[in-house]
Amino acid sequence: MSNVTVCVRFRPLSAKEKRDIGDNICIQSIDSENFIIKDEKEEGFTFSFDKIFYEESKQADVYEFLVLPIVRDAVNSINGTIIAYGQTGAGKTYSMEGSNILESDEKKKGILPRVVDGLFTCIKTSADSTKYTIKLSMVEIYMEKVRDLFDLSKDNIQIKESKIQGILLSGATEISLSNPAKALQSLSSGIANRAIGETQMNMASSRSHCVYMFTIDQQSLSEKRVKSGKLVLVDLAGSEKVEKTGAEGRLLEEAKTINKSLSALGNVINALTCGTPAKASHIPYRDSKLTRLLQDALGGNSRSALLCCCSPSPSNASESLSTLRFGARARHIKTSPLVKVNEDKGSDKKNGALSGTRDETFEKI
Ligand code: ADP
Ligand code: MG
Repeated sequence: MSNVTVCVRFRPLSAKEKRDIGDNICIQSIDSENFIIKDEKEEGFTFSFDKIFYEESKQADVYEFLVLPIVRDAVNSINGTIIAYGQTGAGKTYSMEGSNILESDEKKKGILPRVVDGLFTCIKTSADSTKYTIKLSMVEIYMEKVRDLFDLSKDNIQIKESKIQGILLSGATEISLSNPAKALQSLSSGIANRAIGETQMNMASSRSHCVYMFTIDQQSLSEKRVKSGKLVLVDLAGSEKVEKTGAEGRLLEEAKTINKSLSALGNVINALTCGTPAKASHIPYRDSKLTRLLQDALGGNSRSALLCCCSPSPSNASESLSTLRFGARARHIKTSPLVKVNEDKGSDKKNGALSGTRDETFEKI
């Protein structure tokens, strides 16, 4: 059993925060794993996490500590999940994508372009007797609907479960990534489609969850064996409270749905961390599309990491505290990724890809 790795990242104060309340911050660093945060009443709370990335931390620091070990495992067919959580404006997308997914400045590159580099580097250095195929799907979850970001006409993707592959996005476009440049282009087109969809639906990107799913198939050329690893990255919708945003009408409905899926995520974490190890059937994964999609990540066969993004400003202290409490709970989840490499020993398929149609145990939610 291993724990979910939980890290916190504080972004630098924004220009607005500086204008409003000057250079004050509500964070007092103790060391790289512990800090104190003060709430509006100046009451201090100490938190401990696997690593704290303070304002001056680099994109590369976050990648190397939190993500790289999971990338290496995914190439060895152990599933991995990396989730960015936090209020809108806290730095989730900056951490995941960088200021731009096609960023050429090495220092500013976010997790995703580094994952692309990491996957291709791992593959290049592996044995010649193994053939790898990397595929990417990108979906967005908005108002409990899963939309394909590579094909906007597919606006109701179903989440299914197969015995071999675990949780799947049934029918979602999978782009084969032949090289890093192709991978970045694909990510960029998915992100551009997200913006188009948002304009069509009059929605801000902070209102939806964005899911990047890499599948790494590995075929040994000497034996007819196919192994497969899934690497899922999630840029969650903003976790701020509805009251503070002053939402009304459709926006209020939207905010409630988002809060519902994030609270469903909180409920799953509570169920996973309460008392004796609960049976899978008692964990409410099915309460939202988000928790169903993250079922492997949280309860099963996956190495998982959570990046809690926070503002260091006293004006956002209550949101930061709620993010940190969420992260503190998630730290108690135990998963068992190392017991299961996703392997299909009996495959005689020539192309080696694990095919959903071969496995008859699909189940729709
Ligand atoms: P979120 O996705 O959580 O809503 P963003 O990632 O869009 O937030 O960040 C909000 C703003 O803060 C953006 O302008 C972004 O460039 C900036 N920002 C976030 N994190 C950092 C950081 N670590 N260093 C520099 N700028 C950051
Ligand atoms: Mg964002």
